[in-house]
Formats: sequence, C-alpha cells, structure tokens
Amino acid sequence: MLTPPPLGLYVHLPWCVRKCPYCDFNSHALHGELPADDYIEALLADLENDLPMVWGRTVSSIYFGGGTPSLFTANQIDTVLGRMRGMLQLIPDVEITLEANPGTIEHDSFTAYAQAGINRVSLGAQSFDDQSLRALGRIHASDDVERSVESLHAAGISNFNIDLMYGLPGQSLELALTDVERAVACKPAHVSHYQLTLEPNTLFAAQPPELPDDDTRWAMQEACAERLINADFENYEISAWSQPGRTSRHNLNYWRFGDYLGIGAGAHGKLTMAAEQKILRTTKQRHPNRYLAAHLDGQWLMETRELDARSLVFEYFLNHLRLAEPITLSGFERATGLNQEQIEAPLRKAVEKGLIEVSKGLVVQTALGRRFNNDLQGIFLV
Ligand code: SF4
Repeated sequence: MLTPPPLGLYVHLPWCVRKCPYCDFNSHALHGELPADDYIEALLADLENDLPMVWGRTVSSIYFGGGTPSLFTANQIDTVLGRMRGMLQLIPDVEITLEANPGTIEHDSFTAYAQAGINRVSLGAQSFDDQSLRALGRIHASDDVERSVESLHAAGISNFNIDLMYGLPGQSLELALTDVERAVACKPAHVSHYQLTLEPNTLFAAQPPELPDDDTRWAMQEACAERLINADFENYEISAWSQPGRTSRHNLNYWRFGDYLGIGAGAHGKLTMAAEQKILRTTKQRHPNRYLAAHLDGQWLMETRELDARSLVFEYFLNHLRLAEPITLSGFERATGLNQEQIEAPLRKAVEKGLIEVSKGLVVQTALGRRFNNDLQGIFLV
C-alpha cells in the first residue's frame, strides 16, 4: 500500500553572475537587473497552483537552490518565506537551506538571512586554491570563502555545508588534501565532496581542460576520505559527509525516495498521490523567461509523468543505494506501492555478485557494492 513519505519543497532561483564552464545546471548568466519581484510573484503563484496536490500534508524542509540564490537579498527571501508560511503547514523545526556563492555575500549578510528564517546554508566553495578557482571559472577567491565562513559563524548558523570538488585541472593530490584540511578548519556541519566531471553541453565538454589521471583521482578520493573520517565526518551518502546528526534533511529525503514539490524555472517535483495510488514526477517550464510567462498563461508544467512499476524499482534503488544506511524491504513496499516479490530477481543477482547482503528484511551493501555502486544500481534497471 502506497504511503506518502515526508514532503520537502525545492525552490529554484536560476540566475548566476556568470556561467561556470563545467556547470550543467539550469542556471543562466544574469544580464541586467535581477527580475526579483516578478520572479517571487511567479514562484508563489506556482506554489499556489501545486497546493491541491499536497493538501493536509506537512513540509519538513525547504531548499533554495540554483543558480545562485544568494543573489536574492535577505528581504526578498523573507518575503518568499513569509508568504509560504501562510500557504503551507511547516513542521516546527523545519530545515530551511539557502545555497550561497562566496562571491555574492556582499549582497547581504548571513545574519539578515538567518533573521529571514534560513537555518542552514550550503556554501559553493569548490576549492580554497585560487588557481583552481580560476581554472573553474568561479567568481570568488579563497578569501571570499573564509569571509563567508566568518559571516556564517557570526550569524550563528552552525549548520552549514561546504561544497568541494576534486580532480580539478592541474590539481595535485597534495592540493586536493589541502582543500579538505581548509574546509575542515572552517568547522562545517557538512561537507559535499564531488569529483569534477565533464558534463555534455558545457564549455568544458567542448574544450576539455587537462585533468588528473584516474589513478590520481582515485588516490585523492581515498586520502580525502581518510582525512574527513579523522575529523569525525560520516560518509552517509556517496559524496555527502556530515558531523554526527547533521545530515541534510532535504537531500536525505530525496535519496530515501521522499516527496518534494518543485517550484521555479526547471524545478523537478516528485509526489505520491495516495488516493489514486500513483507517483508523479513533474518538471516546471525550464527557461526563466518562459517560466515568468507562465504567470500569465498558467502553463507552469513542462512535463508530468506517472512512474510505472519498472521506473519505480529503478528510481527507488538508484536513489536509496547512494546511502550508507540499509534499505528495508517494508520501506520499499510503502514508498513504491509494489510487492517485494517483484524485486526478487535483481536482489538475488546482486547477492550472487557479492554487492549486497539480504537478511531479515534488510538490504545492506557490501564494501564491493559501495565501490561498484553504478553496477549495483544497474541491476535494478529490469
Ligand atoms: S555558480 Fe553554480 S549554478 Fe551558477 S554557473 Fe556556477 S556552478 Fe552553475
């Protein structure tokens, strides 16, 4: 029986000062003035239009992602949150995250964002090395990261994440480790540690920079992981590390196949419709101009898709297998509405390959399964 999981709200703010050459997000260089007021009105109308799909449900997390949400001032975020509070039932300790670019903190202080209700920040540092930051086309320097961290501590926002990338153009193992050292010294609650990948339709894909070889990148991953473990970080998801009890509630909900409303240009949503016993994925109009026009014609949705049994199995395992925690087969049944007998064949195959162990209704990844996570996920594409 399909049971609605926790519900989050994702808010996409699509503009950046300029486009980074490796970025394949729905982000757009800002030309001229930020159309903040029009966009805020569009976001709230978009949310209002979605409300009938989540009547009676509480929201446990809100995430302002981008783009560069910190281009919006604290006052503007305050307006959005104030009006949302009148539309949604938020749980008392709702987690509200703002992604911030260290190059834009002069737009407003974290104290002002905290007063607006932001209680978690994800800082897009990427590196503490100025040469690496230049190679990535970032608008900030390492000083900006340190100033941002000071401002976070001064605002009393201890629940913050630092985004770091490794395998950067010209980066040595030593430099990758220094980045982790400097991130740890900032005392974040959370570190997201990703390998730079060259995504299609980016400037880096068209003009690839020279990257460290596979062996060096593997050595970076191992050495950085060891350093994070020594600093008491727990690797609860492939790229996500947290101090005990400081996981990202919003992201954890994605990986546990939870529900989320997605508002804003190109935002994705996933919603369990318990009465109809179906799960929908939604995508809003992608281009900011088309999205703003939806405020006039009401055509917010670019796509709605009902997940069939095959997609449910794959998407559930694709997400949940990113996590270190075991999967419960009863949780799988509640989240997908499917019967565990329907996944007997892929489970057996994964056990035979030594990638998981199944016992007493729990699916636990082996060390081999974690190392060859993509292969393991692929088994559930049946
Ligand atoms: S700041 Fe972030 S979202 Fe914007 S272009 Fe760079 S990587 Fe993409």
